[in-house]
Amino acid sequence: MKYEIPSYIEIPSADAPAAERVAAGAALLDKNLPGWAARIDTETFSLASLYKCILGQLFGFYDTGMRAIGWSWDDDVMAQRFGFHMGNCDDTWAAWERCRDGRAPGQDCGCGRYDEGQQAWLREIASRNHPAAVADDDHDTHLVRL
Ligand SMILES: [Zn+2]
Repeated sequence: MKYEIPSYIEIPSADAPAAERVAAGAALLDKNLPGWAARIDTETFSLASLYKCILGQLFGFYDTGMRAIGWSWDDDVMAQRFGFHMGNCDDTWAAWERCRDGRAPGQDCGCGRYDEGQQAWLREIASRNHPAAVADDDHDTHLVRL
């Protein structure tokens, strides 16, 4: 692997909750590609797109990002463990398209995994680009600065 895995993270399993896997992926980028979050266009960001996903936006194409990290297609499960893709309900390409966006009419599996991953990445990006706003949202009461 070309990228160094931060010593402070434990790599989640491929079926861990999206937020855990995405947090690991964000930490991997923090360690190896500082400033990555500011380079993501959150308006067009789509985890389901090979061009508009995290690796797609940072490297031009998902597969190019895989290679930059040091992964081949054989490391697909690693990419899933770090939240760069969400996997699918079974191991077929058709299932991936259903999980992704229900692209085939009437075939959306409804698992929602890409929506979960999408929201998890947007939270990681916001916490880096607008830390005060995100921290504020976490509190019911707001401290008044005297
Ligand atoms: Zn699914």
